Amino acid sequence: MTAFSHSHAATDSQVTSNVMGMTTPASVPTESEGAIRGGTVTDRLVEANERYAAAFTDPGMDARPVLHVAVVACMDARLDLHQALGLELGDCHTIRNAGGVVTDDVIRSLTISQRALGTRSVVLIHHTGCGMEAVTEDFRHDLEMEVGQRPAWAVEAFRDVEQDVRQSMQRVRTSPFLLHTDDVRGFVFDVKTGLLREIDPE
Ligand SMILES: [Zn+2]
Repeated sequence: MTAFSHSHAATDSQVTSNVMGMTTPASVPTESEGAIRGGTVTDRLVEANERYAAAFTDPGMDARPVLHVAVVACMDARLDLHQALGLELGDCHTIRNAGGVVTDDVIRSLTISQRALGTRSVVLIHHTGCGMEAVTEDFRHDLEMEVGQRPAWAVEAFRDVEQDVRQSMQRVRTSPFLLHTDDVRGFVFDVKTGLLREIDPE
């Protein structure tokens, strides 16, 4: 019996097993599928970078985002922030994690973004069909059971994406470390339509 076999719905255990690497769900590429032209996926990325660099010209920018905006978003692979928001190279800071939730580390990045690199606006983006809706705080307990150590971080799982956007906006607005908390807006990106829906902070 594993730590994951109690009372989990199929989706929970699949997500958990996926993260823990205990099983290999069908959606995860096998080693042979991940291998491209005899190399690994990372080899493929490095090759792509060589082509990118060959065509690259130094835009001569400094590190301060042109639009003075920081975007905090989920790491979801279906969310192309630059395309979806019409952003160009150099326009913004992008801070991404599982769920796009405002953790202490996101506050750390926003604080540096605002105080050292001149951003003033914050845009928060969650999305429909987020994997975080299939995880629960039991994840930490299950981890502890498996590895004998409880993670210091919260899972930050959520059931209601709109409520989580509101909570994230609230965490930014009430942070004592940030210089600018007057322009903080939150959205849910629909992965089926590509449209953003703004969330009322109240
Ligand atoms: Zn997500």
